[in-house]
Amino acid sequence: MEIEQFPLAFAIIGQAQADDKKLQEMLNQFPMEYKQCIDHEQLIIYFKNKIVIPIEFQTRLIEWYHEQLLNRGVLPLIESIKQDVHWKTMAKDIANFTKTCKSCQVFK
Ligand SMILES: [Zn+2]
Repeated sequence: MEIEQFPLAFAIIGQAQADDKKLQEMLNQFPMEYKQCIDHEQLIIYFKNKIVIPIEFQTRLIEWYHEQLLNRGVLPLIESIKQDVHWKTMAKDIANFTKTCKSCQVFK
């Protein structure tokens, strides 16, 4: 992932993760899956080596990847996003998002 192109700064992600009580609980409960490390001088929570994206940034992230991928439909979008980041309802959220895009519907 090229950080210059990425729509979210590590500082913003790290702060939102720190404020996310549910995520902090997950970190304590599932230490095999959730890990916290320093990345770009920021404490970041990872799920299986993917950055966990707090809920307030998920739509923005889908929109950004959607634009990068030029409307190739739902599956390439899911594949790309899940290579970099994680949140639980990702596949469903992306599917819902592409339903509202006429261009993406051509590829479904
Ligand atoms: Zn589209």
